[in-house]
Amino acid sequence: MSQQNSKPAAAHVTNFIRNIVDADLAGGAYRERSWGGKPGGAKVHEGAAADPAKIRTRFPPEPNGYLHFGHAKSICLNFGLARDYGGACHMRFDDTNPEKEEQEYVDSILSAVKWLGFGWNSCGDENLYYASDYFGFMYEAAEYLITAGYAYVDSLSAEQMRALRGTLTEPGKNSPYRDRTVDENLQLFRQMREGKFADGEHVLRAKIDMAAPNINLRDPAIYRIKRAEHHRTGNTWCIYPMYTYAHPIEDALERVTHSICTLEFEDQRPFYDWLLEKLAETTTLSDGRVVGGLLARPLPKQIEFARLNLSYVVLSKRKLIQLVEEKHVSGWDDPRLPTLAGARRRGYTPEGFRAFAERIGVAKGDSWIDYSTLEDCMREHLNEIAPRRIAVLDPVKLVIDNYPYGQEEECQAPNHPQKPELGKRAVPFSKELWIEREDFTETPPKGYFRLFPGNKVRLRYGYVIECTDYDAATDTVHCTYDAETKSGTSGADKVKVKGNIHWLSARHAFAAEVRLYDRLFRAEHPGAGDRDFLLDLNPDSQRSVTAQLEPALKDVQTEERFQFERHGYFVADLRDSKPGAPVFNRAVTLRDAWQK
Ligand code: ATP
Ligand code: MG
Repeated sequence: MSQQNSKPAAAHVTNFIRNIVDADLAGGAYRERSWGGKPGGAKVHEGAAADPAKIRTRFPPEPNGYLHFGHAKSICLNFGLARDYGGACHMRFDDTNPEKEEQEYVDSILSAVKWLGFGWNSCGDENLYYASDYFGFMYEAAEYLITAGYAYVDSLSAEQMRALRGTLTEPGKNSPYRDRTVDENLQLFRQMREGKFADGEHVLRAKIDMAAPNINLRDPAIYRIKRAEHHRTGNTWCIYPMYTYAHPIEDALERVTHSICTLEFEDQRPFYDWLLEKLAETTTLSDGRVVGGLLARPLPKQIEFARLNLSYVVLSKRKLIQLVEEKHVSGWDDPRLPTLAGARRRGYTPEGFRAFAERIGVAKGDSWIDYSTLEDCMREHLNEIAPRRIAVLDPVKLVIDNYPYGQEEECQAPNHPQKPELGKRAVPFSKELWIEREDFTETPPKGYFRLFPGNKVRLRYGYVIECTDYDAATDTVHCTYDAETKSGTSGADKVKVKGNIHWLSARHAFAAEVRLYDRLFRAEHPGAGDRDFLLDLNPDSQRSVTAQLEPALKDVQTEERFQFERHGYFVADLRDSKPGAPVFNRAVTLRDAWQK
């Protein structure tokens, strides 16, 4: 598998994370860093060769859902930093919670990261890891903590434990089980592992300080009993590490230098540092044995940044799962969903996402990004890459009464007006055309320059015509054309007109389904306050029309993107297009229709 990380954007706006990395590298914080060629504890890394990766970051999703636009920010940040600093970004599945994790999610996540243009083959390794592979190490580390007096088995119920935890203003109280001997703790913990107890009967807790001002340091639980089949380890384990215990260890085993996470983990950082320090240092036991030193230094450090909050969408896995399960959308890849699978079907581009990540930057404080910022990024990239084509979305027949029956000719239309090097294509012209219904009216309002009886317009890339009549019985507009006014000929400027409309030869065009999407929510902050977010769903977020398309669109590949002139950017749907019968989705309109 050969993967190439995407090219960096032209210029990077620096940010506080880049400043931290710069300072770490300049200060030589990692000069002595080694890499044993695979994740592991001190035994693997100590004494190994220097790490070829200047820094190591990671993207660590839990495989319990599809990736959304917020994850795209994290992916661009972590993989982007590794790329720019000559480092490696690990693709790591944080699969320590056996419930709700599935292979389907693993597959969709890998495919989304690749689609965004990133890869995990770097600095000589395939850096694809599963936290569940570290269960053995995590267990050994827990036994070590017990041995060194840093952990104990507690047998209180969850409720009793909560009662003793204290509050923000009051210190907690010690559990009556806190002073169990090392031997008793070890025996109980081993029995937990052997399945001697029921779920929830005991937990293993770190022994820190029940009076700590930071509640996360009040003897947090680090292992629980849970009988559940794990998607990779099956029934090997009936105890599982808590996230706050597992995550720092995963980072350390993988030699991550900068562990970048969202702000809600800021209060967890003291425990992150406490745990890694305890596992790296050595302890001399009362019998004189020296134990510990399980992790190699330097240890990873956690850095928090503000998550992406995007208006008009929801970016919580729980809410996305609800939308899918309750069938408010057609599936995880519904083009209206803010999932990367949905965005791909919608016609959004990886380049657009990467530009978006650059534009919004990373900050330390929470804020909202307007959805139009994302759409602008997509529009700008699509404008660059999308060839122009003609589509009539709401067709009405136009007959040119003075054009000969049976005659046809070609008109030349540019594939990209700003890129003449992309050439022109022939669009067939004949007596009967399709035009947009809104480009004709019998009773023009003031300032209407398109077709109405007595008015002249240019058929784009074709002739100037004059509207003569509308026949309601056959729903047909009639006109005559001026044969000397064809675009690209010397007579083209002979007649000056204000209107310019698009058209397709009825005999040559073909009918196809075109889906016009709008925002899934009509509220800027769906579910703000205590409101049920489902009440904010936009009832008109999807419309399907039978359009007439130019012949050149008939044999496109799925995922090919086009600008349909005057209508916006469209993509041939990945799922529903058939050879010779594409279905198109509108990615974004040419202009923002939601601007306040
Ligand atoms: P959710 O809270 O919606 O369930 P999560 O954070 O639990 O999302 P994970 O699969 O654990 O989902 O996330 C993987 C990575 O993506 C984490 O490092 C997390 O910080 C990051 N991430 C998730 N949501 C966002 C967001 N809105 N903005 C930026 N990064 C995010
Ligand atoms: Mg999470």
